Amino acid sequence: MDVHPMAAAVIAGDRRALARAITLVESARSDHRLAADALISEVAKSGRQSLRIGLSGTPGVGKSTFIESFGMMLIAQGLRVAVLAVDPSSARSGGSILGDKTRMEHLSREPNAFIRPSPSQTHLGGVARRTREAVSLCEAAGFDVVLIETVGVGQSETMVAEMADLFILLLAPAGGDELQGVKRGIMEMADLILVNKADGDLKAAATRTMADYAGALRLLRKRPQDPPDFPKALAVSALADEGLGKAWEEMTTLAAWRRETGHFARRRSEQARHWFGEDVRQGLLMRLTTPDARESMATLGDAVAKGTLTPSEAAQRMLHKLKPNA
Ligand code: GDP
Repeated sequence: MDVHPMAAAVIAGDRRALARAITLVESARSDHRLAADALISEVAKSGRQSLRIGLSGTPGVGKSTFIESFGMMLIAQGLRVAVLAVDPSSARSGGSILGDKTRMEHLSREPNAFIRPSPSQTHLGGVARRTREAVSLCEAAGFDVVLIETVGVGQSETMVAEMADLFILLLAPAGGDELQGVKRGIMEMADLILVNKADGDLKAAATRTMADYAGALRLLRKRPQDPPDFPKALAVSALADEGLGKAWEEMTTLAAWRRETGHFARRRSEQARHWFGEDVRQGLLMRLTTPDARESMATLGDAVAKGTLTPSEAAQRMLHKLKPNA
């Protein structure tokens, strides 16, 4: 497959070509994979760079509402916005389908927005690569901002943070005075915590929750590369469209600072190194899943169980078998 026409169409900003290109990188077929690799190399030549924003939050916190309002605000500023979703859970809980267009009613109709829902099935380990490649495609297509949305479960935040320039955590106002069991590791990844639903009856609770998190963030690891007052917590209302301008201002301030200090580019190179390692690990794991490899694992496992081979001897033999041409 000659990917050049598709690459050219993506770079020209053809949205249908972009959608087809993402479908190609999502495919598990090996011939598609080869074409996808070629396509990604080709579009990389555009040299365009979006601001990649990771957004995480548990179901119901207001991600779709936030993306709708925030996205419309950016579009009103003349920016082009792409929304991608990472949903590694096969069973979607809470009824929210990430990147669901019906929940972003206005944004999905905007010619300057591109929304791609999370595919219902992806092969093991393919989620990260698929999303990274979709980000690259949107970047090449000239989107100023790429929002990568994920639910607050499992490893998905870490994955998204590893492919984003900025990582935003969206929270709901807490009922009591307890922080909502947000794991420390996740808080440490956040550049900005947005406490949503700061409106009506929930406004006071949201302000309190925001202050609690602002305090907790101050106690967390210092980041010498960032301005001293980051990471920050803000109260916003996605529904009433309040505080979103301020949130965007904070994001652009931080991004500009990191660009000036070189941290932005450094972070991207570190991420590229990370994903290289991950792809190698994934590739090795794939080799373990071939029928031959499974059989060897079973046979060598039996030998270890019987005591005819030590675990490390058997492991060495297995690794030898995994070498190409072995
Ligand atoms: P998601 O599952 O994280 O995508 O959350 P949704 O965007 O679907 O929102 C879940 C519910 O919270 C919906 O009923 C929204 O109307 C409501 N919601 C979202 N943002 C706000 C907000 O800023 N204020 C209030 N009061 N409700 C909100």
